[in-house]
Amino acid sequence: MATSTKTFPIVYQTPEWVRLNSLKYLQPISAGNMSILLKNGIVVTQNPKREVLEGDVYVEDGRIVELGKVRTEAERVVDCSGKVVIPGLINTHNHVANTLIRGCADDVHLHEMMERSFDFDAKVTRRDVQVGALLGCLEMMKSGTTTFLDAFYWEDEVARAVREAGMRAFLGWAVLDEELSTQRGDPLDNCASFIGKHKQEELITPLVFLMGAYVCSEETFSEGKHLAEDEDVLLHMHLSETRKEVYDHQKKTGMRPIEWLDKIGFLCDRLTAAHTGWVTIGEVRMLARNGTKVSHCPVSNMKLATGGVAPLPEMFENDVTVTLGTDSPISNNGLDMFETMKFCALLHKADRWDARVFDAQKVFDLATIEGARALRMEDRIGSIEEGKRADLAVLDFNVPRTTPCGKSRVVSHLVYSCNGSNTSTTIIDGKIVVNEGRSEHLKEDVILERANEIAVELFEEE
Ligand SMILES: [Zn+2]
Repeated sequence: MATSTKTFPIVYQTPEWVRLNSLKYLQPISAGNMSILLKNGIVVTQNPKREVLEGDVYVEDGRIVELGKVRTEAERVVDCSGKVVIPGLINTHNHVANTLIRGCADDVHLHEMMERSFDFDAKVTRRDVQVGALLGCLEMMKSGTTTFLDAFYWEDEVARAVREAGMRAFLGWAVLDEELSTQRGDPLDNCASFIGKHKQEELITPLVFLMGAYVCSEETFSEGKHLAEDEDVLLHMHLSETRKEVYDHQKKTGMRPIEWLDKIGFLCDRLTAAHTGWVTIGEVRMLARNGTKVSHCPVSNMKLATGGVAPLPEMFENDVTVTLGTDSPISNNGLDMFETMKFCALLHKADRWDARVFDAQKVFDLATIEGARALRMEDRIGSIEEGKRADLAVLDFNVPRTTPCGKSRVVSHLVYSCNGSNTSTTIIDGKIVVNEGRSEHLKEDVILERANEIAVELFEEE
C-alpha cells in the first residue's frame, strides 16, 4: 500500500517529552555484546550448499564465530535441543507504524483502504507513530524477523523505535511530487535530511523511497535516483501493484510503468520494487537487464484482491532477485514472515495449477539470503556462516504443529507448518532481543496497553 501525504513538522532533535516517553517502553539490559552458545540444535545454514547441520552455533562480538561441535564456553547458553536455528528472516516491504490501524480496513479494495489510512494519518501524533512502530518491531522480533525495510512519513519516529527495539532496518522517508504533498518543505529535501541524520548508525540504513509512479513525476524519479547515487544508498518504491495503476499510467504516458521507468533511466540495481503484480514478460526482462530487485507481498496482494500475480517463475528464469515482504499491517494484517512464506508457496501453485512450480527451499531462500542480496548485505547476513553477523532465530519445534521433525523435513516445516509463535529466541547483531518468547528489553505490557489506549483515543473504541 502507499503511504499518505500528511502534514508534519521536521523535528530531528529529540524533544524532552520523547526521551521521557521512550524510557517508559524500555527495561534495563546489560550493555555490550555477550558471547552466546546455541547448543544442540538443528541448524539450517542457508550456506551455498544449503546444508542443514546438527550441532552448536557460537557467537562472539556480534559475529558467528564457530559452527558444529563447539567446546568454547560462553557467557550465555541457550539449550536448542528440539529446536531449529535459522538465519533471521528479512522482510523487504513494510509500513510498520500502521500496526495501530490493524483490522480497520478489512474486506475493501485498495482505494478505500487508503482513504481509511488517510483518516488515521490526520489524527495520529508523533508519539502514536513511535508506539505503533515499537509494537510492530515487537511482533517481528517475536516471530523470527531480524531485518526489515520500512517506508513512511515521520520515519524518524520509526527510526527511534527501531533503535530502541535493537532491530536491523532499512528506512525510507516517503517522497512524492512537492505539489501533491502536504509535507512541510520539499519531500526530497526531507528525505535527504533523514539520510544525513541516520547514515552513520550501525543497525539503521537510510534509503530513498519513492511512493510510486502515480504520485512521482519524471523529475522526482530522476532527482531521487541522483540523491541515492550521491549518498550511495538504496532505492525503494511501489510498482505495478494494481491493474488501475498500470492502465492509468498507460493512459498518461502511452507506456506501462516499468517500460516508462526503463525509458527515463530510473531502473537500476540499487532499486527494490514492491509488488510488481501486473507485469509482462517484457517488463520482467527490463527488471533483469537493469538488475532491479522485487519485493513480493503475496498476503497483501491477495487481501486487497489486486488480481495480478507477480510472475515469480519467469523472474527466476531471468535471474531477477526476488524477496518477500508483508506490506503494511493494515493490508496483511500481521507481520509474520512464516505466514508470508506459506502464502507465497500456495499462491503460485494455485495460480499456475502446478504443485511443482517451486519448492519450499526456494521460498525459504527468498526470506533469507535473497532478502540480504537485495539489501546488499549478503556478505553479512542471510545465512549462518562463520564470520557473518549473528542475526538468528531459534524455533521451538517440540510442539504439535512441527512434529515429527528431523533434518530431512525441517525446511518443509519452516514453510508449510511453522508460524511465528514457534520462535523462542531471536538474536540481532549478536544481542539476544527475545528470549523464551519474551522481549529482553522492551516492556511488552506497557507497549500493548498504550497501543490499546491510542485505539480508544483515535477511534473511540471500547
Ligand atoms: Zn506498501
